[in-house]
Amino acid sequence: MSALKAILLDEIAAHGPLPLDVYMARALADPEHGYYMQRRPFGAPDSDGGDFITAPEVSQMFGELIGTWLADLWNRMGQPDPFALVELGPGRGTLMADILRVGQVLPAFLKSAQVHFVETSPALRQAQKQAVGKDVDAHWHADITTLPDLPCLLVANEFFDALPIRQTRKTASGWQEIHVGAKGDALVFAPQDVAAPDFSEAAKACLPETLDAQAIVETCPQGEAAMRQLSAHIAEQGGAALLIDYGHANKACGDSFQALKGHRFVDPLQAPGMADITAHVNFPLLAHLAELADLQVAPVATQGAFLENLGLNMRAQQLMQSSPGRETQIQSERARLAAPDEMGTLFKVLGVAHKAMPPLAGLTLEGAT
Ligand code: SAH
Repeated sequence: MSALKAILLDEIAAHGPLPLDVYMARALADPEHGYYMQRRPFGAPDSDGGDFITAPEVSQMFGELIGTWLADLWNRMGQPDPFALVELGPGRGTLMADILRVGQVLPAFLKSAQVHFVETSPALRQAQKQAVGKDVDAHWHADITTLPDLPCLLVANEFFDALPIRQTRKTASGWQEIHVGAKGDALVFAPQDVAAPDFSEAAKACLPETLDAQAIVETCPQGEAAMRQLSAHIAEQGGAALLIDYGHANKACGDSFQALKGHRFVDPLQAPGMADITAHVNFPLLAHLAELADLQVAPVATQGAFLENLGLNMRAQQLMQSSPGRETQIQSERARLAAPDEMGTLFKVLGVAHKAMPPLAGLTLEGAT
């Protein structure tokens, strides 16, 4: 049994079931036993035995295209100097390292960039420091509220899916909130009756028109708060944000609470702290929150369409020509990022920007949903 599971079983015995978001927050971010606090979770199954692999870890092409997107936008917005180059939840720091490497094509972009990371895990902060190298004067923040008063270009890949969710269910006799309780030595889902669901006005506005019987509605109060903060920050300071994650582009509901361990789905209650737990991101709600803060919002695109609009196929061709012997690998990385049956369709891209910003490349072209 995982150490955290034993602790949570004791707590539940003493105080009763935990709301799902409290469980998920503990499983991922408990200071001692949380998944992101103690493990190096990212990696390919055949390299360092990680539990899941993210787009920047699949291929350098991902970070290169995002880096080009950022440098181009910085150029077209009037080359603010200095500006904050911000990443939320940078994991191993691979995406930022690739952005900074490709940024060398526009030295003034790099010279003006102040790198800011929002990251809670001390172990991952160390990894990020190593990834960008000691020559980069990077700053770390526990949340968005302490970002500097500068125009801001922000990216977040698989950040929102790691924030704790609640699940609320509509039944014939009323509403229930899903909690985590105990049955012997096992953690189990324990629905608790509630008088009324605790949805924000913004979340209510983004629910489907009708809810089926037994429909599960997922909300992410921490994700909503982060989106409100980052939207307010951009409205005040100028700039844009590019949010990439897996989730739904249209109003939807349903259970998406899931765990991955060793690249396989596992029961999310089986070993808290030992497996990655995530949930789908509610893109209509993130877009709505940005609109409420008076930002411009590009239609949500699929990751495949976005990367192809930015030149993924051309970049893959170039790499294949310059790296003989790696053609098959590069082709399979390209497919992994963009093919509809891999990350291409499930992953979505949301671009939001200050009203004074120029159009966001790659996002309003064909393929936007
Ligand atoms: N972007 C990386 C890693 C994604 S995993 C990649 O694509 O590979 C999620 C990341 O978000 C981790 O770095 C995790 O430590 C961080 N994280 C999770 N919850 C957070 C929170 N509440 N505040 C700041 N960072 C958080």
